[in-house]
Amino acid sequence: MSRFFSYKYADLEPYVPGEQPSDMARYIKLNTNESPFPPSEKALSYARANTRSLQLYSDPNSAQVTKAIAGCYNVDPDMVLVTNGSDEILNFAFMAYTDDRNPALFADITYGFYPVFAQINASASKIIPLRDDFSLCVDDYIGLKGTVFIANPNAPTGIALPASEIERIVKADPDRIVVVDEAYVDFGAESCIDLVRRYDNILVCQTFSKSRSFAGGRLGYGIGSKSIIADLNTIKYSTNPYNVNSMTSAMGIGILSDEEYTRANCRTIMENRSFTVDGLRRLGFKVLDSSANFIFVSSDRISGADYYSRMKDKGILIRHFTKKRIENWCRVSIGSRENMEAFLKATAEILSEA
Ligand code: PMP
Repeated sequence: MSRFFSYKYADLEPYVPGEQPSDMARYIKLNTNESPFPPSEKALSYARANTRSLQLYSDPNSAQVTKAIAGCYNVDPDMVLVTNGSDEILNFAFMAYTDDRNPALFADITYGFYPVFAQINASASKIIPLRDDFSLCVDDYIGLKGTVFIANPNAPTGIALPASEIERIVKADPDRIVVVDEAYVDFGAESCIDLVRRYDNILVCQTFSKSRSFAGGRLGYGIGSKSIIADLNTIKYSTNPYNVNSMTSAMGIGILSDEEYTRANCRTIMENRSFTVDGLRRLGFKVLDSSANFIFVSSDRISGADYYSRMKDKGILIRHFTKKRIENWCRVSIGSRENMEAFLKATAEILSEA
């Protein structure tokens, strides 16, 4: 830290993204929940033909891609805000709806960026432990004051709540906002977007990074009431008005015009997930029931840290977290069938060597 760094950030512990090795070709990458499939060809050719002149700034309203997203969900474009990945809309929500008096409420085991967003915004937070089986107890959130952040499906567990359970949290207190982070919703969970039409205290965040094969393009969005989106626009126009670049916007429209490609890839990932879960359970692993494009796994025969490093030696990257409660677990992203066959083979070898 230089001597010039503001005291405000002296204790900031930044988010640690999964490894993105420079010698990527050496590895099967199952550590950051990306799609194993490239973006749709149809989307790429749409973007080549329709990217707005790059010597001009991007449209600060991102009007076209916003309209396309609104059309997909049948909501008014004023209920949608597009952002630079969904991390940005999540941070906007922390900026807008949490502070030292109004805490962020979130689980102990959830997306690791939430505590960082709370910290950088000098917001209070209240951590609500998941049950022993890593499920979330909705009743724990009833009666608490603050802004609720729930990843659904949760990360890194993959466990999803039905929309009706999230609705109980939303309904319990109309004076409290519930932010539902649906980064992984397309792999078998139920979206809460319908609730946005009935309640004005919910914001649903989604991304093009996972099911839509566009992590590198950085496109996310939030859907909420017009007044929530107006608040978040105030934050956006006070930080980065051109937050979504023209190439990314054009790709976003192209991707939405090829929903069949997205749906087919999601189906394949879900099949590969079942294949991998079956294989791991046969090897004696504990595997949580996942509705996401990753699984959370642990074995009595090898520690989480050893499993991670032995897999890395074999050219397969998975994610290990050092947090005490989950130190014996690893998160494995679901890749192509070929990737998952190689993953299971390497796992069996490691167990037999152990
Ligand atoms: N939410 C969750 C739960 C995630 O795991 C991620 C991916 N790291 C994000 C949001 C943000 O993804 P992106 O910024 O790529 O949309």
